Amino acid sequence: SDSHFPIPVSPSQVDYSVHYPQLFPSPDKFDGSKSIEFADVGCGFGGLLISLSTVFPESLMIGMELRDKVTEYVKERILALRASNPGQYENISVVRTNSMKYIPNYFEKGQLTKMFFLFPDPHFKEKNHRRRVINLHLLDEYAYVLREGGIIYTMTDVEELGVWMNSCLKGHPLFEAVTKEELEADPVVKLLSTATEEGQKWRMLNLVPWNSGPSCPFGQEGG
Ligand code: SAM
Repeated sequence: SDSHFPIPVSPSQVDYSVHYPQLFPSPDKFDGSKSIEFADVGCGFGGLLISLSTVFPESLMIGMELRDKVTEYVKERILALRASNPGQYENISVVRTNSMKYIPNYFEKGQLTKMFFLFPDPHFKEKNHRRRVINLHLLDEYAYVLREGGIIYTMTDVEELGVWMNSCLKGHPLFEAVTKEELEADPVVKLLSTATEEGQKWRMLNLVPWNSGPSCPFGQEGG
């Protein structure tokens, strides 16, 4: 249950020295000059983080994972990579949390440039649709923590879920589809088809990065 993992009361309470010790040797040294930019929501075994780490060595990234054992595995995996590749993989970390509840505890308004939702659990039954990690209510939160122009990447091999995620994003006033040209030019898109464990196993049926639009009316319309 939630009581089994600590939850920061606000993004300023996230201890970067725990996650990125080489970059932030002590909690006191954290001056907010660099903050987490990418969130891999439901990161599973961390394959995407590990691939992104070397493609964007200057960006801090975090995986958010609900399962305790999986989170511990990802932690170990990152530590092992750091040990065998000194100076590398210092920009990635993982946290055990329920992303459906605590995203705003981790990220400030406009902080993130990319959010990943790769192969989320499909929750087929209608009564469980509210448990899907992409829904209209949660998109409000994601738009809040994303920077203007920030991108949400979704990917699934479940057609029904792909249709659902697309229709939520299409129906949300703060998101618009990125153009085909942008999609083709994005190095992340190429990486996505191979980086995640399930991505290696499944043919991709749906890959839709969405842009948070140029006007972000939070504060004007009350969110
Ligand atoms: N993204 C990974 C990939 O593409 O290989 C893992 C996909 S796996 C099907 C979905 C993951 O989301 C699981 O590891 C699950 O524990 C995690 N998850 C489900 N609900 C979550 C939540 N509310 N918060 C954080 N993680 C969650």
